[in-house]
Amino acid sequence: MIALSLAEIAEVVGGQTHDIPDPSVRVTGPVVRDSREVEPGSLFVAFAGERVDGHDFAPAVVAAGAAAVLATRPVGVPAIVVDDVQTALGALARHVVGRLGATLVALTGSAGKTSTKDLIAQVLQRKAPTVWTPGSLNNEIGLPLTALSAAEDTRFLVLEMGARGIGHIRYLTDLTPPRIGLVLNVGTAHIGEFGGREQIAQAKGELVEALPEDGAAILNADDPLVRAMSSRTKAKVILFGETDEADVRAENVRLTDAGRPAFTLHTPSGCSDVTMRLYGEHHVSNALAAAAVAHELGMSAEEIAIALSEAGSLSRWRMEVTERPDGVTVVNDAYNANPESMRAALRALVAMGEATRPQGGRTWAVLGKMAELGDEALAEHDAVGRLAVRLNVSKLVAVGGREAAWLQLGAYNEGSWGEESVHVSDAQAAVDLLRSELRPGDVVLVKASRSVGLECVAQALLESG
Ligand code: ATP
Ligand code: MG
Repeated sequence: MIALSLAEIAEVVGGQTHDIPDPSVRVTGPVVRDSREVEPGSLFVAFAGERVDGHDFAPAVVAAGAAAVLATRPVGVPAIVVDDVQTALGALARHVVGRLGATLVALTGSAGKTSTKDLIAQVLQRKAPTVWTPGSLNNEIGLPLTALSAAEDTRFLVLEMGARGIGHIRYLTDLTPPRIGLVLNVGTAHIGEFGGREQIAQAKGELVEALPEDGAAILNADDPLVRAMSSRTKAKVILFGETDEADVRAENVRLTDAGRPAFTLHTPSGCSDVTMRLYGEHHVSNALAAAAVAHELGMSAEEIAIALSEAGSLSRWRMEVTERPDGVTVVNDAYNANPESMRAALRALVAMGEATRPQGGRTWAVLGKMAELGDEALAEHDAVGRLAVRLNVSKLVAVGGREAAWLQLGAYNEGSWGEESVHVSDAQAAVDLLRSELRPGDVVLVKASRSVGLECVAQALLESG
């Protein structure tokens, strides 16, 4: 972070200094909440959780080189004591981003935030020093910690913002006010907590309400609830999508023989061809969103197309393709699933399998439940099972309870699939089955919602290869 003295930090957060012999000492290391991440010069933020109290680690982190602890009580080592560490952390982040010369880019949406944030970071990085949210640390704690990791020379700060209710995004934009705000889509993620799609749109739209007049709201033209957010912002609106009306759009979208999405990118500055390294057509929308951000920040269509073509995933378990020494390919997309990304992943699987099909290579879809679908759950699982048959996937392994049964039933009803589809009760049973069945040239897709934790299947297959 930008170096601030302990005295300055205490003033910004309205805290009292305790056991600090020299308040002019500067925090030069990262601001962290995990004692294992402390480096010399760090500020350690002591959160009191249900099981672990950060205050207990205070002596150890100072021994490891931390400059001080941000705490709610004196801890016998240098500390800045405040009433509430989360509020103090937020105030510090707001102060620091106000002093940075960086442009803040914030994004939200129901699905694809992390993938898109990783794409944006990889594109912008080519132009100037960029800092971005690691993984999915998109809440009221992860966001300020990310903002505080920016340095004097950071030009772009890319922040993923998550929302589980009304007012959450507003809280985050108050801490780190963006100039560019991107909304990807309004789906059904966390619908139970929100109450409905309209409420989700209401909550996500808080992002564009926070933008200044000279800012840019980047909105998905293909998603009506996102597009309607145009009326909620003072900022300029840039639309992305596959429709002709979008300012940044894709034409001639297709999958290459290797199963990679390819398209011609059009921006107001020109057009250029993109062939992605990321698998799954849903990444076309994510790539267009990233392109719109980069266009707004002055990059040409050609520069953007090159960057998008070279970008990989920075976060794990999202269409991670690994070939085992024995020639079995494992596609780990177990981070999460929804109907749209299930369809995209199945199409990518089939395209990847084309290469070895003539030699007897098979495609295996190892799928678990898609959560949070409410009344649509049965129909959506049935539809995915049917699609597996229509796409000519070789084998479906449905893992888990009721939803897995629906997947298998869909396949049975579509194509009278008997042996081609198997229903197993848990991940271990899937691993046992696959270990005995897989042979060189086979491609295995592993995908389900986060709560299923199906990545262990992919990991076990890679270990046994
Ligand atoms: P989280 O809320 O957990 O942080 P996220 O919004 O950051 O999720 P990602 O981690 O990028 O989303 O992707 C999660 C899953 O959503 C991916 O595994 C993929 O299956 C799917 N996905 C990614 N992009 C899209 C998209 N544009 N539309 C639909 N599904 C998508
Ligand atoms: Mg995420």
